Amino acid sequence: MNANFLQTPITYLKSVGPNRAETLNKELGIFTYRDLLQLFPNRYLDKTQYYKINQLQPSGADLQIVGKIVHIKTVEQKRGKRLVATFVDDTGQMELVWFRGHKWIRENLKLNEPYVVFGRISRYGSTFSMAHPEMELLTAHQKGLKIAMQPIYPSTEKLSAKGITNRVMSQMVQQLFLECKGQFNESLSTQILDELKLISKSEALLNIHFPKNQDLLAKAQFRLKFEELFFVQLQLISKKLLRKQKIKGMPFSEVGSYFNTFFKEHLPFELTNAQKRVIKQIRNDLGSNAQMNRLLQGDVGSGKTIVALLCMLLAMDNEFQACLMAPTEILAQQHFNGLKDLLGQMDVKIDLLTGSTKKSARKTIHEGLQSGELHILVGTHAILEDTVQFKNLGLAIIDEQHRFGVAQRSKLWHKNEIPPHILVMTATPIPRTLAMSLYGDLDISVIDELPPGRRPIKTVHRFDSNRLKVFQFIKDEIKKGRQVYVVYPLIAESEALDYKDLMDGYESIARDFPLPGYQISIVHGKMKPADKEYEMERFVKGETQIMVATTVIEVGVNVPNASVMIIESAERFGLSQLHQLRGRVGRGAEQSFCILMTGHKLSEDSKTRLETMVRTNDGFEIAEVDLKLRGPGDLMGTQQSGMLNLKIADIVKDNQILQTARFYAMNLLKKDPALQKEENRSILQAYQNLSQDKTIWNYIS
Ligand code: ADP
Ligand code: MG
Repeated sequence: MNANFLQTPITYLKSVGPNRAETLNKELGIFTYRDLLQLFPNRYLDKTQYYKINQLQPSGADLQIVGKIVHIKTVEQKRGKRLVATFVDDTGQMELVWFRGHKWIRENLKLNEPYVVFGRISRYGSTFSMAHPEMELLTAHQKGLKIAMQPIYPSTEKLSAKGITNRVMSQMVQQLFLECKGQFNESLSTQILDELKLISKSEALLNIHFPKNQDLLAKAQFRLKFEELFFVQLQLISKKLLRKQKIKGMPFSEVGSYFNTFFKEHLPFELTNAQKRVIKQIRNDLGSNAQMNRLLQGDVGSGKTIVALLCMLLAMDNEFQACLMAPTEILAQQHFNGLKDLLGQMDVKIDLLTGSTKKSARKTIHEGLQSGELHILVGTHAILEDTVQFKNLGLAIIDEQHRFGVAQRSKLWHKNEIPPHILVMTATPIPRTLAMSLYGDLDISVIDELPPGRRPIKTVHRFDSNRLKVFQFIKDEIKKGRQVYVVYPLIAESEALDYKDLMDGYESIARDFPLPGYQISIVHGKMKPADKEYEMERFVKGETQIMVATTVIEVGVNVPNASVMIIESAERFGLSQLHQLRGRVGRGAEQSFCILMTGHKLSEDSKTRLETMVRTNDGFEIAEVDLKLRGPGDLMGTQQSGMLNLKIADIVKDNQILQTARFYAMNLLKKDPALQKEENRSILQAYQNLSQDKTIWNYIS
């Protein structure tokens, strides 16, 4: 009964109706009873006490007082009217004040009836007053649910404008509790409840909305956070088990001539030990009967591309096609060029598909994919389009995971009758415990070693006032034959301003580095792809010495001769972004430099970020600092936290609970993989309900 009840459209709730329902849909994404139930309060006001008027202090606190209105008058002021009520209890008197809504209040307030008033206390002269108090007749107050601490719900301007105040929200939730008598199906097993001393689901929901006291609030929060994380983990782990047991992969049993020829004749360098280890892990996966779903973490410049290529060759040896997907056109293009160079004269058909691929070329690609003639397709999101059909896709590689959501990963799953093996490569190091929890359904490999001969990049922080010295340094480097990046921030909210900064910067650089001695490239988001590519190309070929750009060059771009990275307004970048940018240099044999330019005014967080960059090149260390500095919402771009869609838990702050939840989920699945045992019935039911609810579990594939 409960599951159906919770799916009731919100419009059926008493006091809601179609108008309010529409506002709730639009403003808070509330469509059903369940959505409302899961709109957890942001904070609570303590209503555990009633104050007497002679106890009041000018503390600015929100309090509740029981008393009567004995008199109401309108007071004329220069800046409009106000309505003032004299409110008394047995210890003294005070004022209630309204600046708006006078008519309604005059018509509805009753004189000489006991009220409970609640609001912020202030004092004018010797009189205490409360402006726009919440009011409730004492009789109604005593009948209503005993709300000790008042929930404060998330709100928006539109909501309040349409009369859905916090009080109304709270009444709606109360109504929901009344309709089901506060009874909600338990979703955890008795064993888990007992072992962790958790309160019941019904008790937890009641106390998260209307806590009886602080202690019960804390218990409710813990229980609901645990539950939320537990089901996420259950989902991830069972998906992984299922994949390993049930989903037949396509075993790549052969190591054939593509792989071997390349290895013997075309490999341009010796692989690092880390690369060898990772390739071995991947080959194990590919050779088994299960489908591979692996995350490859490797810092910028650690050499993930060659690993990707070797895997694709392995696919071809087993008569499968492969694809490599990158987040931007420039990167896709660069991967395409890079792979073609690496493959040299080998007989491998490889092509590029992006948003700007011409219709005729697109047609050729589609045909090549379907006939099987085309072996490797490199591209952007364009690969995901339904019209792109492979004859036999065996391996899909995604570069730079954090730009792609899980939904896209699952789209790749369906590109083939049997899901292809999937390798996700990311240069954003994720602390291990977190990675396990975020990507619990993936296996993880790490390249933790840079190719030999790399010198650590020297990073310094310079103030804008030292720009001339920095320019001189650039000139010296260019004289040695090196190339230089100058990067400007680009943030969607201030795009126009950022664009102006970039153009101003470009002009000032053009003045200081005049033609014909210096050639400058510029690349930014407003350019046509073809123009971007042309400019990139000139820089890659060494025809220009300076590349002025926005963050479009952030990931992947590879120009080994570039040895200086200047980051303008560095305080405006996040740590992982700074680290990514820095990774664009230090790719050749030369000593490379990263110069972080800022003004003198810096926040504490900015200082920490800059200091961290100067101190270390270690991506994992940087990731840890990043994690501490940033809120969970920002973590590694929005998609990763967004994909879990958590209502109450916070994967960073609640990491301890997360570990516990993961442990319990694993144990449960070990003992009862299909959740068939009677004692786990409630878990199974809750799990099935969640799985049906597409808005929450949209990444089920
Ligand atoms: P990323 O992991 O950032 O994608 P790339 O695959 O682009 O790194 O590799 C960075 C650079 O290092 C490239 O120029 C590549 O040719 C080179 N490289 C990769 N592996 C090795 C190796 N084992 N020895 C020497 N150079 C390597
Ligand atoms: Mg790369």
